Amino acid sequence: MPENCIFCGIINGALPSYPVYEDEHFLAILDISPAAAGHTVLITKEHAEDLFTLPDNCARQALPAAKAVAAALKQALGCDGVNVLQNNGTAAGQTVPHFHIHLIPRYESDGVSIKWKALKPTRGEFSEMAEKIKSEILLP
Ligand code: 5GP
Ligand code: ZN
Repeated sequence: MPENCIFCGIINGALPSYPVYEDEHFLAILDISPAAAGHTVLITKEHAEDLFTLPDNCARQALPAAKAVAAALKQALGCDGVNVLQNNGTAAGQTVPHFHIHLIPRYESDGVSIKWKALKPTRGEFSEMAEKIKSEILLP
């Protein structure tokens, strides 16, 4: 575990946090700079930098844990929706290099922005892209 990792520090209790959920593989805590009240990050107990290095046994547990926290947010806060986001690499907006999943409570017209400008690929570009990706798929 890298000694300067903020999330490892939280997992091992050296740094404070507001936990909302814990199981064998994950700890969920309130995000320190929330996009919305109740914004939670689900953190792996084992240090893995990102999705690419996440052990498969953790990956298998990630969505059930995220589902449980998302459902709790909906019940506790009465939000209308929840964004489940996960960033890999600085280019993708990752600022803490320890795998985590964001759960952001959402309300109709809340003004929280998670948007992109859509490209308009041609049918040929879609086909070429699908083939390119398909050829690299490797399942565990
Ligand atoms: P990323 O940009 O890597 O996807 O998300 C990292 C998240 O971790 C950010 O939303 C940021 O606010 C949160 N964060 C960074 N440092 C701390 C901390 O010390 N405690 C908590 N609870 N959240 C943190
Ligand atoms: Zn870490």
